[in-house]
Amino acid sequence: RIAYVNGTYQPHNGATVHIEDRGFQFADGVYEVWSVFDGRLADFEGHMTRLARSLTELRIPIPMTAQALERVLKETIRRNRVRNGIVYLQVTRGTSPRDHAFPKDTPPSVIVTSKTIDLGKGEALAAKGAAGVTMPDIRWGRCDIKTVGLLPNVLAKQAAREKGAYECLMVDDMGLVTEGSSTNAWIVDENGKLRTRDTQANILRGITRTAILKLAEAEGIELDERPFSVDEAKRAKEVFVTAASSFVMPIVSLDGSKIADGKPGPVATRLRQVYLEQARRDAV
Ligand code: PLP
Repeated sequence: RIAYVNGTYQPHNGATVHIEDRGFQFADGVYEVWSVFDGRLADFEGHMTRLARSLTELRIPIPMTAQALERVLKETIRRNRVRNGIVYLQVTRGTSPRDHAFPKDTPPSVIVTSKTIDLGKGEALAAKGAAGVTMPDIRWGRCDIKTVGLLPNVLAKQAAREKGAYECLMVDDMGLVTEGSSTNAWIVDENGKLRTRDTQANILRGITRTAILKLAEAEGIELDERPFSVDEAKRAKEVFVTAASSFVMPIVSLDGSKIADGKPGPVATRLRQVYLEQARRDAV
């Protein structure tokens, strides 16, 4: 495998950044993940726009033009011979002697990796449905920025894994679900309305979330962009999560209690299908 590191392509197993990289010492950086279909990038523009916003919010200089970045992403995909999988981009505030305050005249560090993903495995899990658990959301107040500071998300995902579950839904002080550890969370509520938390409320504006909102509207599904509680999720007709790497994943149990009949529902199944069709068709 090959990784892009600050202007050069290197063998993945020996690729390194400096020990004083601020991403390493302070989690002072941001990232994006694109899914790759037939060697092409899904929703290139959406992720690029969010990347620019994350960098601007943290006052990290934009490291290169969108065009140059597209070339690097595609070259990394090509050199790794990835047909279907993901490409990961990380931009940090660069390498400088450790000091909390921003360094002067330091170029950002840029790394890109890409790997193949077996789409069949995800399809099989989506057909069966995945298990979910819940945990308190212990994150900071800027979850709208896609930073590499993911320790609460790591702990949440690990809690899910230790309980044999696929994803952990994080819950605020009011008992309302914020989002998954690496996904946005949705339900089809008891009235048949599609619900997901609004993005004013300290969550990541998922690129897949935005695509699903549009597709749901086109499908004539009634939408309610409003948070839901753990209790509402447990009583819901359907629960599912969305992300660039897992698309739409039905959640068929939550903290051990079955959602509806314990099988993936029609809304999640349909949205997964139309999302995949569109993402494949529009990939660049
Ligand atoms: N929420 C969190 C906390 C995430 O980490 C992610 C993806 O990594 C998402 C939501 C989904 O975002 P996207 O659809 O852009 O992949």
